[in-house]
Amino acid sequence: MPPRILPVDPWNPQPGPIAEAAEILLSGGLVAFPTETVYGLGAHGLDPRAAAKIFAAKGRPADNPLILHFAAPEAVDEVALVPPNAERLMELFWPGPLTLVLPSRGVVPLEVTSGLDSVAVRMPSHPAALALLARANVPVAAPSANSSGRPSPTDAAAVASDLGDGVDLILDGGETSVGVESTVLDATGEQLVLLRPGGCAVEEIEARSGMKVLLSGGAAHRSPGTRYRHYAPRVPLLLDTDAEKIARAAEPNGRTLRIAWIGMHAPEISLGEGVAHPGLRILFDSPENYARGLFHALRVFEERGADLIAAQWPPSEAGIGRALRDRLTRASMKE
Ligand code: AMP
Ligand code: MG
Repeated sequence: MPPRILPVDPWNPQPGPIAEAAEILLSGGLVAFPTETVYGLGAHGLDPRAAAKIFAAKGRPADNPLILHFAAPEAVDEVALVPPNAERLMELFWPGPLTLVLPSRGVVPLEVTSGLDSVAVRMPSHPAALALLARANVPVAAPSANSSGRPSPTDAAAVASDLGDGVDLILDGGETSVGVESTVLDATGEQLVLLRPGGCAVEEIEARSGMKVLLSGGAAHRSPGTRYRHYAPRVPLLLDTDAEKIARAAEPNGRTLRIAWIGMHAPEISLGEGVAHPGLRILFDSPENYARGLFHALRVFEERGADLIAAQWPPSEAGIGRALRDRLTRASMKE
């Protein structure tokens, strides 16, 4: 059965759909809703049975903890200790695409934290998300509303196509604006550690807070989610640095493959005839727009029957480039 979808004005969310969605959350159901990053799959964050439904609906490994979402920074005190560093970051970057991992007070069920003694918290800036969180007035656990491992959903159609009636309601607020997930920082210790690059640039965090962010190579130990292949379309995705591999893959047994191209410039490498198809070439005029459109483009290429997707490596690691490189790398990983 197709899921129930209710339109909501992303800037001035109507009270009707927000109240209905909050009611479902409070009674233990699942609601997908827009945030500024990607669509989230929300459940009551203090209800272990509701949280467990998220893992079932997404097919998410149980050892990958969930982020709790709040309508106001003060509400975080109930579930986590907030060190001065973290408080400063909340003042500077909330609401917005920055998630902080903090010491847990132990009230969040282990289904949400995957048994860790820390908890990840965020206050999104999307008006519809904020209205829903305020109305529900409980922490809302919400990972991206896709099937685990698939490209994250940046519109309601992507949620519906992945989750079907596994979700009780989808609030449709149109396309998301950032397009990649939040930046995750470990703020449990003296030293801030980057666990996942995302919509909030590390350079901006350092410049505005005056604090140093450690770009840890060992993040996988502390942030279970970063261990997994993720964001991957159903067709192979190769980075343009693998030009030779692309060229070889393009002509197995003499058949020309339909190769899709995504990036900021037309391909400099020869990819054969397949890439000439205009529907299989998506170009963006800035790294921000590349990030905003990436996941949607991967789904479009699948639908249009691409055999292979070649993605241009973002020219810079600065700003959103770090998150973009991370998502492309992980989408191109083999199982
Ligand atoms: P998602 O909600 O799927 O976009 O991913 C949430 C990310 O936050 C994953 O990479 C998780 O591993 C990470 N995360 C959530 N809670 C914690 C925590 N307590 N400690 C470290 N990482 C966390
Ligand atoms: Mg996700």
